[in-house]
Amino acid sequence: MDERTSRTAGRTARLFPGSGDVLRMGMGGIPIQRLDPSGSERVLEKAIAAGINFFDTARGYTDSESKFGRVLPRYRGQVRVASKSFSRGAADIQRDIETSLRNLRSDHIDVYQCHNVAGEADLEKILAPDGAVAGMLKAQAQGKIGHIGISGHKPGVLAMALERFAFATIQVPANFMETEAMRELIPAARRRGVGVIAMKPVGGGNIRETALNFRFIFNQGIDVAIPGMDSERQVAENVAALDDLSPLNAEEISRLQAEKERLGDRFCRRCEYCMPCPQGLPISFLHVLRNYYFLYDLKDWALERLGGLARTYKDCTACGECVAKCPYHLDMPAIFRETWEKMQADREDRA
Ligand code: SF4
Ligand code: SF4
Repeated sequence: MDERTSRTAGRTARLFPGSGDVLRMGMGGIPIQRLDPSGSERVLEKAIAAGINFFDTARGYTDSESKFGRVLPRYRGQVRVASKSFSRGAADIQRDIETSLRNLRSDHIDVYQCHNVAGEADLEKILAPDGAVAGMLKAQAQGKIGHIGISGHKPGVLAMALERFAFATIQVPANFMETEAMRELIPAARRRGVGVIAMKPVGGGNIRETALNFRFIFNQGIDVAIPGMDSERQVAENVAALDDLSPLNAEEISRLQAEKERLGDRFCRRCEYCMPCPQGLPISFLHVLRNYYFLYDLKDWALERLGGLARTYKDCTACGECVAKCPYHLDMPAIFRETWEKMQADREDRA
C-alpha cells in the first residue's frame, strides 16, 4: 500500500495540500443547471448536511457557479470548491477566474482547473508562456485560487500534462464502463501525489448498479468522485455508498460486466458539452429517454415525456455540430435517426 493509498483509505481523502479531509463523495455541478434556484438550494443544503464538502463546477456550466454561490459561502470554512475554464490564454483565464469568484461569491477558489484539455495542441496552448497555466499562476500568487488542476477525457493527454507541470489535481472519467485512466494515468498521479477526481463516476447516470460501481472505482485509486446530483434522494444514496467500500467479489464484478454489455459504448454521459443544438433538441435528455425506452423497458414513461418536448429525434437535421463537440464522438444524427425509426416501427407493432 503506497503512502497516498494509506492516506485515502476510508470515507475521506486528502485531495490536495491543505484540503483537509474531503469526503470521497463530492458533488459535480452539471445537473443543478436543470433545477430552479430553490430546488438547487435544497439539494446543496442536503449535500452539506450529509457531509459532502467538495463541490466542483465550471464556467461552462451556465448558472451552476451562481447556484453554488447562493449556498456555499455560508459554509466557506467547511467546504472546498473547484471550478474550471475552457480558456486557453493567460488573460482570458484570469478574466474567467474573476467571473467565477463573483459567481461563487467568494474571494478564493480552492482549485481552478483547465477544463477538458483534449489533445496535445490544447496542452501546448495552456502551457505556452502566455497560456492559461501562466494566468492561473498569477491568480494563485494573488491568493485568488489555491491550486491548479486539469480535467480531460483522454488519459494519455493528462499523463503528458503531469510530465510537463505540477498540477495539484487531475479530473478524468472513471467508472466501471470507462477504465482506461485506471491503467496508467491514475497510478502515475498517485506516485506524484496528485489528487485524483473521478468525473462521470456513474456514467452520466446510466449505471444502475451504483453502489457496486462506487466500490469498484474507490478501489482503483480514486480520491474523490463527483457525481452530479439533482435530488435529495440522490445525495442520500450516493453518500450511503461510502458505508461499504470493500473490494468486489467475482459475482459482483459479473453483475457490473452484464451492465456494461447492456449499455454498450454508445451511451451519453450527460456532460452537455454538445449543447446548444441549433434546432433546440435537448440532446442528453433524448439519450436518457432512449435508454428508458429500449434498455429499461419503460416505454410509456419515455413516450409521455417525449410527448411534452417541442423538439425530438425526428427534428435532428444532422448538422453535426453536436458530434464535433461531444468528447465521446457520439453520432447523434445516426443514433437519433435509428431511435426514431425503431420507435415508429414499435408503435406500428403495438397498434
Ligand atoms: S446533429 Fe442534430 S442533434 Fe446535433 S446539433 Fe445538429 S440538429 Fe442538433
Ligand atoms: S451527447 Fe456527448 S457531449 Fe452531449 S451530453 Fe452526451 S456525452 Fe456529453
